[in-house]
Order: sequence, then C-alpha cells, then structure tokens
Amino acid sequence: ADWIKDKTVLVTAAGQGIGRATALAFAAQGARVIATDINDKTLSELSGEAGIEVRRLDVLDDAAVVATIDAVGPVDVLFNGAGFVHAGSILEMKDEEFDFAVDLNVRSMIRTIRAVLPSMLERGGGAIINMASVASSIKGVPNRFAYATTKAAVIGLTKAVAADYISKGIRCNAICPGTVESPSLQDRMRAMGDYETARAAFIARQPMGRIGLPEEIADLAVHLANATFTTGQAYAIDGGWSI
Ligand code: NAD
Repeated sequence: ADWIKDKTVLVTAAGQGIGRATALAFAAQGARVIATDINDKTLSELSGEAGIEVRRLDVLDDAAVVATIDAVGPVDVLFNGAGFVHAGSILEMKDEEFDFAVDLNVRSMIRTIRAVLPSMLERGGGAIINMASVASSIKGVPNRFAYATTKAAVIGLTKAVAADYISKGIRCNAICPGTVESPSLQDRMRAMGDYETARAAFIARQPMGRIGLPEEIADLAVHLANATFTTGQAYAIDGGWSI
C-alpha cells in the first residue's frame, strides 16, 4: 500500500505469535520491517521473508534498545509486542515476579517509545502500537494479577503518550486481545494439566466460541498504523469477551 511504502516498522517480540504475524502483515503491505526478538531460532525462520530484516533485541536492555534504534534509522511505526503472562492471584505472586512483569510488560515499552520519539518529533509524525490485553483495566480476570495490573499500565501509558504528542503528529494506541493462538498460549494450556479442558475453558469465555488468530490481531495493527484520526484508544479484539 502507498501509505506504508518506504516506511520503517519496528516490531518487538516478532519471533512468534502476534509479533510474528504483525511483522509479516506489515511486510506484505510493502513496509521495511525490523523484526526483533531474543529468540535467534525463531528470528532466523523469519529472516528469508521479503521486506523483513531480523535483529536480536532484548527489550529489557535499555542500551540495546537505544543501539538498535540508532542502527536502523528513523522508525515510522513502533509495534511493542513483548509481554509475558504470569499466572496467580495477588497472594500467590512473588515480588520478583511483579518486578519482572513491570520490566517486560511496561518498562520495555517506555524504553522503545523514548528511543523512537526524538526522530518522530523531528519528522513530525509516527505511530506507536502497544500490546495490552482485555485482562487489564477493561476486565478483571481470575489468576492474572501481575499480568492484568501491568497491562492496565500499558493502557495508561498509551493514553499519556497520545495526549502529550497529539499536536506533533504522533499517535499511540493499544490493542487489547482476548485469547489468541500462540506458542505461549499452548504452553499455558499444557501447564494447566488437562490440555483439552484448558482449551475448552479458554474457548468458552469468548462468546464467538473460538480462539483468535494472530493474523486477526496483525490486521488491527496495520489498521492502527494508518488510522490517521485515531489516537489514545484501547482496542478490544476479543471474540466478544468484553461485551
Ligand atoms: P508469545 O508469548 O507466544 O511470544 C512472545 C515472544 O516474546 C517470544 O518470541 C519471545 O522470545 C519474545 N520475548 C520474550 N522476552 C523478550 C525480551 N526480553 N525481549 C524481546 N523479546 C522477548 O506471543 P503472543 O502470545 O502472541 O503475545 C504477544 C503479546 O500479545 C504479548 O504482549 C501478550 O501479552 C499479548 N497478548 C497475547 C494474548 C494471547 O492470547 N496470545 C492475549 C492478550 C495479549
């Protein structure tokens, strides 16, 4: 598509799941995509794809984030995909788990946004898309204390950035999925003991009666990159879970 030609899209956590589908979707639109992750194996599987450059990037590492963004040049679209699901209630959660959840789910986005903003401001535009979740300030979900607390923070930081830079041509939106097919979802279902029962429970809570596809989330990310009258929004994409 014309609007994305010659634009650079940086995707974190692009190795698998939603991040991978998003990198491929932007590349299919004709963007230059920088696909980053900490998993060299999954990154190498992406490296042959047209329009995609892969780079190892640990979003917990501030210096590495800055170095990567310096190296790739001005970023037009930032897709913050990295995030981890901790299971457990407030009483079950260890402080270290919460610190890690804040670092990976929230601070990672602060790092990347800080690093891309100066060049976006210089050029007078940019789009930032953050992966939040319906399990956040949108919906209370059992057994997801650290996850939902940090994903609510993602919605908050999305709105704050949107408000601060709206007059500079920079938009910032959040995507809030329900349950979406991904390798880590498979791990979570296996970890619950009885895989089939776990899968049925995930399906049952979404009124559409199915688990979402990473490509459906990627479509929304592409839309938001070009949704020129939209900023500061938290988009539920959840098979009706939050109705
Ligand atoms: P996933 O959990 O299967 O994969 C996560 C990826 O992140 C992996 O490739 C992993 O190597 C990478 N990663 C982990 N730590 C990293 C780090 N420090 N630096 C860089 N990369 C790192 O993918 P998913 O399930 O599609 O989730 C992607 C995002 O979508 C997450 O933010 C998640 O919270 C959110 N989300 C997912 C679902 C779902 O049901 N799958 C629902 C709501 C929100």
